[in-house]
Amino acid sequence: MTIKCIGVLTSGGDAPGMNAAIRAVTRAAIYHGIAVKGIYRGYKGLITGEIKDFQTQDVSNIIQRGGTVLKTARSEEFKTEEGRRIAYQTMQAHGIDALVVIGGDGSLSGARLFAEEYNFPIVGLPGTIDNDLSGTDLTIGYDTALNTIVEAVDKIRDTASSHERLFFIEVMGREAGFLALNGAIASGSEAAIIPEFALEKDQLAETIASGFRKTKNSSIVLVSESEVTGGAMGIAERVRNEYPHFDVRVVILGHIQRGGTPSAQDRILASRMGVAAIDALLEGQRNVMIGIDNDEIIYVPFSKAIKKNKAIDERLVSILHMLSI
Ligand code: ADP
Repeated sequence: MTIKCIGVLTSGGDAPGMNAAIRAVTRAAIYHGIAVKGIYRGYKGLITGEIKDFQTQDVSNIIQRGGTVLKTARSEEFKTEEGRRIAYQTMQAHGIDALVVIGGDGSLSGARLFAEEYNFPIVGLPGTIDNDLSGTDLTIGYDTALNTIVEAVDKIRDTASSHERLFFIEVMGREAGFLALNGAIASGSEAAIIPEFALEKDQLAETIASGFRKTKNSSIVLVSESEVTGGAMGIAERVRNEYPHFDVRVVILGHIQRGGTPSAQDRILASRMGVAAIDALLEGQRNVMIGIDNDEIIYVPFSKAIKKNKAIDERLVSILHMLSI
């Protein structure tokens, strides 16, 4: 099948670098003579027909902007067979032969189902700050979010050391500890409490037992948002009950982690992946996510990408532990 027209959409949680990805997909397609349609508000726009022809100038001056110019949304309707049927009819009415979906785990799960049901090509790009998609070393937005976390923790450190307090700082991750662990290493935090190890060991007890060094006058622990760890609020509550001699404070970084101008690394990653999405479609690939492995672009089947088993490198935990003595 020759692809004449692709649709591009962003879906689920936004991430810095999504615009750079939209730009790369659009321009690479046009470079290869393929028409591009921008689909607004994710799968929702595919159902309602919020679709616009994209030329190269439609993606001018966006590489440096956070968020997504295509907007993003969550669509309950797309989770139903009827919703996807309407979405497919809209695609056909607009002459769209293939889709590039930029989003996280949920968006790619939807893409997988949609592509299987209607037998047409979809290529996914991993757009999420959480870095929780399997088969890729990095996702678009992760590096920028890490930098935002480090900047925030540096500031909190100033006040933490003036007051000699124990701070629990909650970072995002949706049950994945990449932001907390690498954020802790990069900011010189004392420890990270992450969901991956929450069931096998008591990370709070270990952290306290390893003893915040007496000569240190402040302590910062990054905690992943998680139902398993209880997040920063849950951990602080435990400290108040079990170790009442600590003067505890909680900071929840929240949505500042999702915004902001994308880092150079995220812009480059998004540009490489956007071009690779079009290459993949031209090669006849379908139902794959573009990943990066050892600095090489790879194609990861959706089924593997959304498996939710991306492992944390335990050596990073040792490094954090060793460097916080
Ligand atoms: P993210 O892509 O950031 O993980 P969500 O999990 O909210 O975000 O998913 C975004 C959208 O993808 C949902 O609103 C829904 O429209 C679609 N989606 C998610 N999971 C499925 C699924 N299992 N089947 C069909 N569509 C899905």
